Amino acid sequence: REGMSYDPVALHRNARPGHLACRDLATGRAWSYAELDAAIRRTVTVLAGTHGVARGQRVAALARNSVELLLLQQATLRMGAIFVPLNWRLAAPECRRILQDCAPTLLVVDPAVAPDGVADCRVETVAALAAAIAAAAPAGPLPPVPADLPCLILYTSGTSGVPKGVMLTGANLFFTAVNFGVVGQVSEASVFLCDAPMFHVIGMVTSVQSPLLRGATVLVAPGFDPQVTNDGLADPALGVTHYFCVPQMAEALRQAPNFRPEAWRLKALFTGGAPNPPANIRGWLKRGIRMVDGFGMTETGTTIGMPIDTALIDAKAGSVGLVAPATRVRIVDPGGEDVADGAVGEILVAGPNVSPGYWGRPEEQAVAFTADGWLRTGDLGCRDVDGFVFVVGRRKDMFISGGENVYPVEVEAVLAEHPAVEDVAVIGIADLRWGEVGRAYVVLRPDQEADPAELHDHCAARLARYKIPKEFRIVAALPRTATGKIVKQRLRDEARAEAAGAGGII
Ligand code: ATP
Ligand code: MG
Repeated sequence: REGMSYDPVALHRNARPGHLACRDLATGRAWSYAELDAAIRRTVTVLAGTHGVARGQRVAALARNSVELLLLQQATLRMGAIFVPLNWRLAAPECRRILQDCAPTLLVVDPAVAPDGVADCRVETVAALAAAIAAAAPAGPLPPVPADLPCLILYTSGTSGVPKGVMLTGANLFFTAVNFGVVGQVSEASVFLCDAPMFHVIGMVTSVQSPLLRGATVLVAPGFDPQVTNDGLADPALGVTHYFCVPQMAEALRQAPNFRPEAWRLKALFTGGAPNPPANIRGWLKRGIRMVDGFGMTETGTTIGMPIDTALIDAKAGSVGLVAPATRVRIVDPGGEDVADGAVGEILVAGPNVSPGYWGRPEEQAVAFTADGWLRTGDLGCRDVDGFVFVVGRRKDMFISGGENVYPVEVEAVLAEHPAVEDVAVIGIADLRWGEVGRAYVVLRPDQEADPAELHDHCAARLARYKIPKEFRIVAALPRTATGKIVKQRLRDEARAEAAGAGGII
């Protein structure tokens, strides 16, 4: 088959052989582009020779971030095999289910974090793999792999149900790298810090593929630790220019004792994956940091993003930005018709960055992917006259109170501005009079007080009546997925069970 194939490192091996490609911050080991290319070819020898991995087969990993994961990803890409980095924070039964789902030939484990006895296939430790790679001879040239074949499976966060295996092709990785490269002004002088998990799209796709495609540098840290990350961002010897995280990680950086954004050299602090309230973005700007939000999914990679300069436009704070160049976005009503500028509808995405579908899940695939090439994101948003997109929340989270649509993200952003509020989630619950009303679950900051009446008054001063939660519950913590997202479905299920128990409406 002729056509596109994708191998980001091959060109840089010759174009800039001595340039620093990656450094593993846990061990201090560094690879130039020439060395990285050789290490990828050694990894091919180990996978194909020692472990018998063939085209189309899966190689899974349950491990903290390391350059070995990057080598596995690039080696499988060249071989036409499929890399499946898994979330090691999942419980053993969840890991087992996912491993049954993707049925790998080989599982690479980090014994410090991987649950025991979850796989039926060959198992190898990261340390043993690293030793084998060092001892192996580099494989010779391989036939090019068509870029429309899956090379990576990433499981979704499982925020709205069980995690789904999203197949990503070489073309998907290439176009996400291009999309983020344009929006994030990535150049060969860029230095990325990747401590977001490599089993997540923010880690393995955005933070790794963008610098590799451009011949830039990626610093790989084993995981996120607010103090270590703060030190890393402030370290002139590392010179980090690009850092991508979820808003919760940014907040943890801000609260750590060694937070010194004055020393950062970042072009911007990139966020995505969960709502980031405008007040938060403005707060960072006051500290001199451009916080740049973007919308993406495992299924799409980077697809809508704030170009760095537009982060300074105050009226656009809270926007996820403009549609990236390789991508098309529609915002449609429930009948599938495009809505007018400013009106809320479901966000649809199409383009070469969009996944061909879910691994072994034809029903979910048929719901999310239309026959004419659009992905139904399940997210609601609107677009202003300048093309800036605003995400208002997941379709499943919206509720209707007295005939009016309520988007919990908006209410949560208002509550998050209250000085005593650390964390908040709003859901709709059944109500005889209004159909549905809001209930807010609020986690207070340590040593801070706020009673429901005060939280109500705070909302009443800032929101229309129908948006004000009817009930405020102070709780110790909110249920979260292993990637840190709030699991509203669990709150809704509990609310329904509670209402049924009390003989209320459900
Ligand atoms: P699952 O599909 O299993 O329910 P998930 O959708 O949380 O899990 P991801 O692919 O990690 O898994 O997350 C994508 C989702 O994250 C988007 O569909 C959207 O709901 C949310 N999201 C991403 N970026 C933003 C953003 N900038 N603002 C608000 N929400 C965002
Ligand atoms: Mg999803």
